[in-house]
Amino acid sequence: MKTAEILEQFHQIASSPSRQKEAFLQAGKKVVLVAPVYTPEEIIHSMGLVPMATWGADIELKLAKKYFPAFICSIVQSIVELGMNGTFDGASAIVVPSLCDSLKVLGENWKYAVPSIPFIPMTYPQNRKPAYALDFVKAGYNRVISDLEKATGAKFEDEKLKKSIEIYNQHNAAMRKLEQVLANHPEITAVQRNDIYKSAGFMLKEDHTKLVNELIDTLEESSTDVQKIKIMTSGILTDCPSLLSILDENGFQIVANDVASESRQYRTDAPAADTGLDSLALKFSAMDNCSVLYDVEKKRVNMIVEQARQYGAKGVLVVLTKFCDPEEFDYPLMKKACEKENLPVLLVEVDRQMTNYEQARTMLEGFKDMLQA
Ligand code: SF4
Repeated sequence: MKTAEILEQFHQIASSPSRQKEAFLQAGKKVVLVAPVYTPEEIIHSMGLVPMATWGADIELKLAKKYFPAFICSIVQSIVELGMNGTFDGASAIVVPSLCDSLKVLGENWKYAVPSIPFIPMTYPQNRKPAYALDFVKAGYNRVISDLEKATGAKFEDEKLKKSIEIYNQHNAAMRKLEQVLANHPEITAVQRNDIYKSAGFMLKEDHTKLVNELIDTLEESSTDVQKIKIMTSGILTDCPSLLSILDENGFQIVANDVASESRQYRTDAPAADTGLDSLALKFSAMDNCSVLYDVEKKRVNMIVEQARQYGAKGVLVVLTKFCDPEEFDYPLMKKACEKENLPVLLVEVDRQMTNYEQARTMLEGFKDMLQA
């Protein structure tokens, strides 16, 4: 397949999660929704169920307003809106991790707002490094397994989990390689790049890995003269087509990212261990460099500077989801660290209900002039 054809496949999948869901259901599969972030998808996959990501959608909030105050992030609000308006009908359950206050509220409200789709909590400890944390995490996984068995009738087997972990580790490796390859291919637009990352949530990981590897192969066989302004992105979610189009119109290339819906989830593999559950618990314990993972030293901040330098980014674009406390806490430290290294930072605040990006356009045009000066 040619690059354009592969990119079109990613686009079709990324832009039609409902069609993907219906296709899985018609094939006799059961779909389990996975809310962000670090939901143990491997467990769901190993039970023969299809994990489908939900990061909400750019929609007007109507029904969900009954359950949330206005000052809570629009990702969780729009997930509930989609649940209430029937978009998720047919799903067997939703698994929601407990890694920020908004996600905790999402789970509790979901039980009342969308009673037809069972809510399954995944409770993580914030202190994830000590040995006792591993037992806590495993207890959380066992709770998820027993709730999944109840909701779907599927059965858990640790040997199958080990196989799914292998599939997810292979996907992680493909996504890490993709990031390096895309850095050398500025002809791939920010919009196309987003399709590749987004589609991962709506496909079985073995299928996504295959398509990503095909893309990598075709890109590695080609070269380009296109030159753009290299930037790094950071944030929870950059799935904003209007914002990404402005990046493309202004000649920006995303060469590296520290985005939760993109590379953050692919940085850490599950290591080999006696059981699949041990392996998954060790993976969570080893994770770092994320605003929702407790770290008193905030090592993430230096990682961003180092990564931007490594990929030759001239500046860092922080896409801040409105009312996201974990990211708001990290931002001043990140800005200080970047500016100390003469790495310009631009903050653009986004919201899943935003329709007008003209203010962001003006800011990005100014950022472009600054980076080219
Ligand atoms: S965007 Fe921030 S506040 Fe919202 S769910 Fe993610 S981490 Fe929590």
